[in-house]
Amino acid sequence: MLILIAIAAAVIIIACTLAEAFGNDEIFTEGQRSTAPCVDTEFVPTPKDVEYIKETKRVIVEALGEDYIEGIMELKALEERIDKIKPLCEALGELYELEDVTFELCYDEYNYKSCGKYSPKEKKILINTYFLAFDNSEIITDFIDTVLHECRHAVQMKMLLNYDKKDYRWYSGDKAVEGFAKNIRQGIITPKENIKAYREQATERDAYAMAALILAGDKEGGI
Ligand SMILES: [Zn+2]
Repeated sequence: MLILIAIAAAVIIIACTLAEAFGNDEIFTEGQRSTAPCVDTEFVPTPKDVEYIKETKRVIVEALGEDYIEGIMELKALEERIDKIKPLCEALGELYELEDVTFELCYDEYNYKSCGKYSPKEKKILINTYFLAFDNSEIITDFIDTVLHECRHAVQMKMLLNYDKKDYRWYSGDKAVEGFAKNIRQGIITPKENIKAYREQATERDAYAMAALILAGDKEGGI
C-alpha cells in the first residue's frame, strides 16, 4: 500500500512539474558560446542512453556522411549548408519520435549568444544558423552539438510525459527522469543567473553530456 501511495505521489509531482514547464516559454535556453561543451567524466549514461548515443551516431553518418564536419565546410554558401542540415534534423526527429516537434533553422546574428532553444510550449526547436556560416571546424562542431543538445531537451520532455507508462523508447530510467522533474519543479536556472549552476542542473548536465558523448570519437571515450 505504501508503495502505491509513493507511486501516486510521484505521478502527481511529475504532473505538476509538467504544468509548470508548459507554462514557461523559454525553459531551455541555450547558453553562451563560452560554455563550449566538454565531456563530463562523472556522467554515467544508462544502458538506454548508450543505445541512444550509438543510434544517434549512426543517424548522423547516414544523413551527413563520414567526416561530416569537413563535408559541411566544403560547402561555401550558407544555404547549401542549411540544406545539408535539414535532413539531419528530420532524421533525428524520427529517431527520437518527436513527431509533434518542429525544427526551425533561423539566422540571427544579433542574438549570437543564443545558439539554440527548445520551447515545450510551442513544441519547437530553434537553431541559430549564424554558427553554420563560419569556416571553422570547432564552431561547426558546436553547431551540430547544439542540434543534439536541443533535441535532448525535447527527449527529456518526452520522458517526463511518459513517466507513468515508461513506454517511451528512449526512457533513460526513473533516477534520471526524476532528476529532470525536480530540476524543472525548482525552476530552470539560466546562464545569466549563474553559469556554474546552469551547467550543473540535471537537464543541462544530461543534455551537454549526451551531445558530447555522441560527438566524441571512439578514442576520446565515445561509446
Ligand atoms: Zn540546454
